[in-house]
Amino acid sequence: MSNDKAKQIKYLKKLVIYGKKLKKNILKYQRELNRIDKKSVITRTKKYHTKSIKKKTIKKKRKKTRTKTKHHKTIKNRVKIIPKDILYPSSKIIVIDPGHGGKDAGAVNRRIYEKNIVLKIGKYLRTELKKSGFIVYMTRDRDHFVKLSHRTKYANRKKADLFISIHANSVRKNKAKKAHGIETYFLSPARSARAKRVAALENRDGVNKMSYSTKNSLLTILNQTKITQSNKLAIDVQKNMLYNLRKRYGKNAIKDSGVREAPFWVLVGAAMPSILIEVGYVSNPIEKKRLNTISYQKLIAYGIAQGIKSYFLKNSY
Ligand SMILES: [Zn+2]
Repeated sequence: MSNDKAKQIKYLKKLVIYGKKLKKNILKYQRELNRIDKKSVITRTKKYHTKSIKKKTIKKKRKKTRTKTKHHKTIKNRVKIIPKDILYPSSKIIVIDPGHGGKDAGAVNRRIYEKNIVLKIGKYLRTELKKSGFIVYMTRDRDHFVKLSHRTKYANRKKADLFISIHANSVRKNKAKKAHGIETYFLSPARSARAKRVAALENRDGVNKMSYSTKNSLLTILNQTKITQSNKLAIDVQKNMLYNLRKRYGKNAIKDSGVREAPFWVLVGAAMPSILIEVGYVSNPIEKKRLNTISYQKLIAYGIAQGIKSYFLKNSY
């Protein structure tokens, strides 16, 4: 063997060893690379997973809030959508009954009389209803006394479809600051003490002249469908009054005292659905001032009119 050949063989052997090492190293690096890759994949998927969960929860939350706002809007819209310029069947007759009058002032706080405020609201209501095509009568359109029993008899004679009695509330001086708000009553035997108190106030004329048995028999012959219709009407009127007043005075300024049942004698003899609205407290220092403004009176009247229209739209008898 020549020297050159031996050198060549040595070189080749070294090369093989070097190659083997290289191969090992390459494999090692590859494994490591794979490990890193796998890790990164896992972390990535983990990240993605958590992200997607987060996204879902956010979506859910958003959905919840959205549905909440939607619901809120629909309530608002339900009140809002009452068409302003729809002409209602001209055959519909409404009798407006402004409470008290003449010698009977109703609730009084200094120079503010219930009888005057409710008459003004009654007149604004007449204008609003006439605009929509209703036939409207009033049990009184000036400051004179009308007996309770004559009021419903009048409505029956006019063959009214609805009877709307308008009043203002009041409480004793020691409760004057606390008691405020709007409420709508429909006729039924009184349940709560509160309803009894208000009924006693509004019934002063007439109730004492009736014997217990007459009172009871009058309440027992109450027509159930009339009560249901009166209840529906009361809900629509209350909702619309509140909606319109709150738009102007803010939500917290106008208290919703609700729709209530009470034995108002002014409603007993009426053959049609009938309600009694307490438009606010004459005894309350803030509400007393409001009740005496034209804007409040007009808004109340507008709200009642919208409520009546809503009632006819929903219940086309
Ligand atoms: Zn009254």
